[in-house]
Amino acid sequence: MSTNQQVFIGTDCGATMSKVGGVWADGTTVSTKLHQRATNSQQGPLAVVTSWVEAVTEYLGQNDLTWADVSSVGLAIPGPYLRYGVLGHSANLPTVFDGWDFYTAYSQALAEKAGRAVPLVVGNDGAFGGVGEAQRVRGDSTDSVLMLAPGSGLGSAFIDADGLPLQGDTLAGMETAHMPAPLHLLGAKPYKCGCGRSWGCVELYTTLAGLPYLLEEKLAGYPGHPLASSKETTKDKVLSLRGLAQKGDPLAVELFDFQARAMGLHIASLAMALDPTFVVIGGGLMDPENTTEEFRERYLRIVGETARAHLWPVQRDRITIVPSTLGELSQAIGAALVALYRSRR
Ligand SMILES: [Zn+2]
Repeated sequence: MSTNQQVFIGTDCGATMSKVGGVWADGTTVSTKLHQRATNSQQGPLAVVTSWVEAVTEYLGQNDLTWADVSSVGLAIPGPYLRYGVLGHSANLPTVFDGWDFYTAYSQALAEKAGRAVPLVVGNDGAFGGVGEAQRVRGDSTDSVLMLAPGSGLGSAFIDADGLPLQGDTLAGMETAHMPAPLHLLGAKPYKCGCGRSWGCVELYTTLAGLPYLLEEKLAGYPGHPLASSKETTKDKVLSLRGLAQKGDPLAVELFDFQARAMGLHIASLAMALDPTFVVIGGGLMDPENTTEEFRERYLRIVGETARAHLWPVQRDRITIVPSTLGELSQAIGAALVALYRSRR
């Protein structure tokens, strides 16, 4: 059965699983049920495109839609890129993907399946995730939204009045993770980042990426702490910190308070350039399934207090800092929304 209603589809290409989301022409979500399928990257580019098309076909079927209803498609895919629609070298993919023109490959597969050309837009997964979250917080307004998602690294996106992400002239824009942190205000050392820079990338002070360094330094002040004598690997020690903080462990609490201050300073710094109305915090620290409300509130409170001390007066009461709400669906929904917004132009 077909509803004869236009639908905009988003595909989110993850390292292991690809997800599908959809929105109607008015921007409302077709379904909040997560639909995903193995990406199959080990089998090469053709298998990946096939799995995307099959995942969309399944999604359409589940929602009483057909390919005739599909107006356009968005694809969220991690970089780096050589240029629009073409992958550069990625550490997470087999080398056969170097230089892969995923825009042309997916366009051709969509046209074959639908029996007509289907417009396609592609972009950075983090940026498109920001588009999805932005729509949730700002509703029908044109308020701009800064999204920061601390996890293994720091994802960041800025969504403008049109609902679209700032990406820069080479798609390398809004990589705020590798901007320098104000180390003198944090009392922190300039650790060397995986990106090669040694100016103290913000990512090191706000995410898992720098926790091994921070933990080692802080442990010096807690000689009797179980982690000081633990035989666990550094990775396991670092991963245990979020749980310890939620049980009130003073060392772990101190570490996440430190990360919250670093995040607050980063927001204040970005607000000087971007002047957003909303700041959405995503990532593992805001995950309602793995963190307590108390933990999330403490983190957001310190982020807000730290940021406000450095904002312009006009921004202080205006900027609203909130947790993300779409979870794993943000990038697929965001990709669908970009397809919709582009079709309006
Ligand atoms: Zn860096």
